Amino acid sequence: MSDKVNFGDELVSPEEKTRRVGAVFSSVARRYDIMNDLMSGGMHRLWKDRFVNRVKPRRGEEILDMAGGTGDVAFRMAQRGAHVTVADINADMLEVGKERAQRRGLTGLSWKVENAEQLTFADSSFDAYTIVFGIRNVTDIPAALREAHRVLKRGGRFYCMEFASSDWPGFSSLYDAWASRMIPRIGQAVADDENSYRYLVESIRRFPRPNAFKRMVAGAGFVRATAEPMLGGLVTIHSGWKI
Ligand code: SAM
Repeated sequence: MSDKVNFGDELVSPEEKTRRVGAVFSSVARRYDIMNDLMSGGMHRLWKDRFVNRVKPRRGEEILDMAGGTGDVAFRMAQRGAHVTVADINADMLEVGKERAQRRGLTGLSWKVENAEQLTFADSSFDAYTIVFGIRNVTDIPAALREAHRVLKRGGRFYCMEFASSDWPGFSSLYDAWASRMIPRIGQAVADDENSYRYLVESIRRFPRPNAFKRMVAGAGFVRATAEPMLGGLVTIHSGWKI
């Protein structure tokens, strides 16, 4: 790859974006969970519950939770009896996740450093692939979607939850105004890191609109690609099937 890509509002080389995203999450790993509560007013817990209800993990299923970070979504799916592989490009985020899982006595989880764009798993390995608040950080999103399709079994389910900025003057634009002013300040106060949190807000604004992302999901070979808005369009659950 040689074209410039967005790192937040800045244009950088693809390699530089991957490096800087790595630095952001290494920097925020230890404060990530408390910051999620502060940035969303605790709502991320409800969004994740709702997301897992849509995935409907079943006992014995193999699920890949990509960009799984500190394990929030994986824990909910493992508690329903699925075996979850938590994969993330950032070893620091996974380390925090492993410690949390140990403290909670959770089993049914494997942890693996993986780049979503180039997975080391064999074709047709998983019943479901999930990615929550992760894909907007990936440098080559179409490559990650193709890999998701490759590692799913036939009949496998793809689920993605991501922030969705909207042109509609509703809740999401109010949130956007609040987020761009307040989140970097909260990041500075709580995690001593204003820049990482500024990137997180900018990356939300830069992520494709739900219909554009739905087309990308379909373009990777998934059928019945859907985009389901939640909470005034602030967050969207995307899904698709591999046949
Ligand atoms: N899914 C978790 C959650 O909802 O709490 C973590 C989301 S966190 C905002 C984004 C995660 O994406 C980080 O852990 C980051 O390391 C990971 N990530 C970014 N680029 C990635 C890539 N190319 N491959 C795999 N993971 C990536």
